[in-house]
Amino acid sequence: MFGLPRIFFTQEHDLFRQTVKDFIAKEIIPFNAEWEKAKMVSRESWLKLGEKGFLGIQSPESLGGLNIQDFRYNAILIEELGLSGCSGPAIGYPLHSDIVLPYILKYATQTALEKYVPKMISGEYIGAVAMTEPGAGSDLQGISTRADDHGDHYLVNGSKTFITNGYLSDVVVVAVKTNPTKGAKGISLILLDRGMEGFTRGVPFEKVGLHAQDTCELFFADVKVPKENLLGKEGEGFTYLMTELAQERLVVALAAVALGEYMLKATVEYVKQRKAFNQAISEFQNTRFKLAEMCAALEQGRIYCDYLVQLHNDGKLDSAMASAAKYNMTELQCKVADECVQLHGGYGYMWDYGVARAYADARVQRIYAGTNEIMKELIARKILK
Ligand SMILES: Cc1cc2nc3c(=O)[nH]c(=O)nc-3n(C[C@H](O)[C@H](O)[C@H](O)COP(=O)(O)OP(=O)(O)OC[C@H]3O[C@@H](n4cnc5c(N)ncnc54)[C@H](O)[C@@H]3O)c2cc1C
Repeated sequence: MFGLPRIFFTQEHDLFRQTVKDFIAKEIIPFNAEWEKAKMVSRESWLKLGEKGFLGIQSPESLGGLNIQDFRYNAILIEELGLSGCSGPAIGYPLHSDIVLPYILKYATQTALEKYVPKMISGEYIGAVAMTEPGAGSDLQGISTRADDHGDHYLVNGSKTFITNGYLSDVVVVAVKTNPTKGAKGISLILLDRGMEGFTRGVPFEKVGLHAQDTCELFFADVKVPKENLLGKEGEGFTYLMTELAQERLVVALAAVALGEYMLKATVEYVKQRKAFNQAISEFQNTRFKLAEMCAALEQGRIYCDYLVQLHNDGKLDSAMASAAKYNMTELQCKVADECVQLHGGYGYMWDYGVARAYADARVQRIYAGTNEIMKELIARKILK
């Protein structure tokens, strides 16, 4: 908000940012209200992102990507989507590129890479990651979806719930038990796709917020999955998840700060024009102090996140650091949401107002990608080691 210099970004990043900004203004913002009613973004929007080269930019050129191994570009896309206030798209698109694709790029067989990655980059295939089950969320070791070995294939049975991009998903990284007697060491990751018999999905959930997001259940009934769809090694799934979840948590933190900035900006505009007791709301000391507090906290958050992105680029972001960022920034986002609604008075509770939507959308950020209580456990584990 003060415009503190973003010292980790170059002129090339700024040019990319402008391209992203223009794209969002033309292809995302005008459609968001429609997508909220439909409970999902359009498939066409995914194709447009793909056409622009915004999906999976880190993927190798041989698979259709741009081979950009610089997370600042991914961060720009996340940030600009957040600044647009379109929370559904701000979560769904980055989940595909920065959370699902990394599992495939790092651990998939050549056959699976060639089958799925080019179409994920073009936007023809939409990705999801399915860990949570009706009976197991935070306690991932408690999952009961099974993949039983049948020689050249697995038979997958079970179900998953609350899956982001679930309804539209074409390719899903699924956490399964390959050895139910072994706890964490019995967990593996496997790729399922839309064409597989026995793989079905529920309708998008009615959620408190994130209405433009097709969160849903997935069901697996004797789904025959070829062995080449296993990611990495059998029994290593939990380790892969723990490694990759750091980037997921950074993504959530980046979105949280940007969505916070979106709400603050909307509130600054609002309080300047709304009048009470013959003066603008912005002239009350309470308003000024609240805005100042939010601005100071968000500025700090922004620079902190920039630093973490740089650390991630250097391969130094660990699980506790990412957990602290996710915890800190999502708590801040929710606090900002509450204050901004308050400064809008009754209008802040009306869906037509951006802050009302952003308030409803913010709440889940403290729940998914690992609850904030689990984040604190992970931080404490490192401190007490
Ligand atoms: C909109 C949305 C999108 C989602 N997207 C996905 C997705 O794409 N893929 C996916 O796999 N999942 C997804 N989830 C699921 C999400 O990650 C889980 O809801 C979350 O991990 C919590 O699990 P749970 O709901 O089973 O809650 P529980 O694990 O039952 O937790 C209930 C409460 O107990 C607390 N608790 C649990 N264990 C501890 C502990 N050890 N110490 C202290 N407190 C504890 C929790 O913090 C929480 O407050 C999504 C959820 C939502 C709502």
